[in-house]
Amino acid sequence: MSDKKNFFSDNEDLVFHFRHSLDWAQIVELTEGGWGKPDGYKNVEEALEVFRQILEQVGHYAGHEVAPRAEALDRAGARLEGGRVVLPAEFDQIFDGFREMELFGLTVPRHLGGLNAPMALSFILNEVIGRADVSVMTHFGFHGPIAMALLLYSAREGSMKSGPDDWIGPSRFDEEVRQIVAGRAWGSMELTEPGAGSDLAAILTIGRRAPDGRWRLSGHKSFITSGHGPFHLVLARTEEAALPRRDGPQGASALEGLDALSLFLVRGQVERDGKLVDNVRLERVEEKLGHHASPTCALVYEEAEAELIGRPGQGFELMLIMMNGARLAVGFEGIGVAQAAFEMARAYAEERRTMGRLIAEHELIADRLLSMETDIRGMRAMAFEALNAVELSHKLELTLRFTARWNAAERQAAEERLEGYKRTARQLTPLIKFLAGEKAVEICRDNMQIHGGYGYMREYGAEKLLRDALVIPVYEGTSQIQALLALKDHLQLVLREPLRFVRDLGAARLKALTARGVEKLYWECVYEKLRSMEAIVREVVKGKLADELAEMRAMNPLEVWKHLSKDFLRRWDAKEDFAYGLLHAERMTEILAHCSIAEILLRQAETWTERKVWADRYVKRMHPRVLALSSAIRGGDRDVLEWIERRRQSASADPRS
Ligand SMILES: Cc1cc2nc3c(=O)[nH]c(=O)nc-3n(C[C@H](O)[C@H](O)[C@H](O)COP(=O)(O)OP(=O)(O)OC[C@H]3O[C@@H](n4cnc5c(N)ncnc54)[C@H](O)[C@@H]3O)c2cc1C
Repeated sequence: MSDKKNFFSDNEDLVFHFRHSLDWAQIVELTEGGWGKPDGYKNVEEALEVFRQILEQVGHYAGHEVAPRAEALDRAGARLEGGRVVLPAEFDQIFDGFREMELFGLTVPRHLGGLNAPMALSFILNEVIGRADVSVMTHFGFHGPIAMALLLYSAREGSMKSGPDDWIGPSRFDEEVRQIVAGRAWGSMELTEPGAGSDLAAILTIGRRAPDGRWRLSGHKSFITSGHGPFHLVLARTEEAALPRRDGPQGASALEGLDALSLFLVRGQVERDGKLVDNVRLERVEEKLGHHASPTCALVYEEAEAELIGRPGQGFELMLIMMNGARLAVGFEGIGVAQAAFEMARAYAEERRTMGRLIAEHELIADRLLSMETDIRGMRAMAFEALNAVELSHKLELTLRFTARWNAAERQAAEERLEGYKRTARQLTPLIKFLAGEKAVEICRDNMQIHGGYGYMREYGAEKLLRDALVIPVYEGTSQIQALLALKDHLQLVLREPLRFVRDLGAARLKALTARGVEKLYWECVYEKLRSMEAIVREVVKGKLADELAEMRAMNPLEVWKHLSKDFLRRWDAKEDFAYGLLHAERMTEILAHCSIAEILLRQAETWTERKVWADRYVKRMHPRVLALSSAIRGGDRDVLEWIERRRQSASADPRS
């Protein structure tokens, strides 16, 4: 299809990553549970051809059917009428099309009516559909991924029958999955409450086991996307004694914080006396800045019938599996929105003239356009690297845990690969969520600016994109929370392997001194990354090991690191000791993200030399930014920390507080 408005095939960079950035041979083989099944693919080429056709079909649909309806969806929005959510007619038309294309079962196994495609396709569609309209993408994302989460939970809790070759067999949730595949149902992910967003340990919704052994849930959930559906996956605490501490200690045996959370499936309606009645009360559909056609619901649980998933206390662990996938999905969404903004900006800049020139040829505008495109390509490269790791870590883990495939040597090799993929997934997921959220907003704002006064009007849709983008750094864990996760993970790596860190630091310095051209710029950034990390560790331990500082000053860097890794890890209290790190977490995360992207782009440019121009451009653009961020981190300014301390002291001296 040579189709200019095909949101998959008109995007050369996306098509490149689809073809080259995923280990399809491994992914398809694991997804199929081995080759040669009667209804499976014969080989990877056959599978890839089918996947490409699906992406092209949806790309065409997104460009021709979804994008043209985006303005109408934005104007009409979702609303509550008589206790039910009403969506614009255009929304239903679009979802009818998805149903016809059998997209709700895209990644669902064949025996449940699905197409058994790898999860990667669903992530790629987040970009493709997100570019057309984020409300549509968001609701679409609460179909297939919820079905897959239910199957995964069933496997984990032992209620699925797996076979010797395949982890997928009859499960506890097959009926729910079938309804989703048929397009009759969807689910929602319910963590947030009025008093608990980033701080999930503050969740108050409570699950109690009634004398008949059944669970009942009571509490409020807020900001729940697509919360008007039949299946609610709800995080709640399960022991009253474990309510968050308010006025003093609770029962000594109580589970605390995140360990007290359990995961429940709650049905929107249940049968009572032969009639279907509401089990969850839809209190409100939020009015919000953007994402107008995506219903964001406030829900009330009043002794709602609930089914426990997994064990009591396992809720956070199970929800995290889904949350990590959702974070990567939001990363792809951010890239889709940014791509839409870039396309809009480029088109306008190539038709609008001022002072005798196209505005695309004014230096300031050209610089922005080039930055937008470079950033998007960089983020996409990192998102695909994360995607490969996420898909393979899931599939390898399930295959190893639940099937009898492979002999001992093969299993050991698979376990080693699994560790590598898990590490990459854990490291890159917060980076992509962080950067895609922040950059989507920046790029949409640049698009508005490039449109001048027209950008502020509704006419071109530039302001809609910015309104839609603004939530990306907020939901599925704010940018700040992603930064804390990324920093913690990298800091642990440093403290666990200090010798390696010192070696890396030395090697980066040497390369920064000896390399030439773009490579030199890259290694200077890597060196600054490591120096920033070192500065954070030094500042963090300053207070902790104050009494030993004089002694440590006399040590050489290697001895200092050895000492820190032994002593500090033992005596570390993240909340108390980590203030300097927390202060710079966002700066550090941005540096980490840029360096990861540059590493991936430069690596790919070795094989595909035509892509070197983008790798070089990315490195040249990130270099001054990384140096500035690093300089702020290494500056050692503690003004903010002192300000917090003074605030705390005056608050504790004030009897009214
Ligand atoms: C449109 C929309 C859809 C949503 N959909 C869902 C959904 O489907 N399911 C669901 O469960 N939730 C959903 N949410 C909720 C969303 O995940 C939360 O809003 C988000 O996690 C932030 O929580 P909060 O609003 O309570 O803010 P808070 O946690 O109160 O945070 C306020 C500010 O403080 C910062 N902050 C908090 N703690 C720290 C810290 N330790 N260090 C530094 N900064 C910190 C935050 O980054 C933020 O900037 C949705 C939200 C929106 C807007």
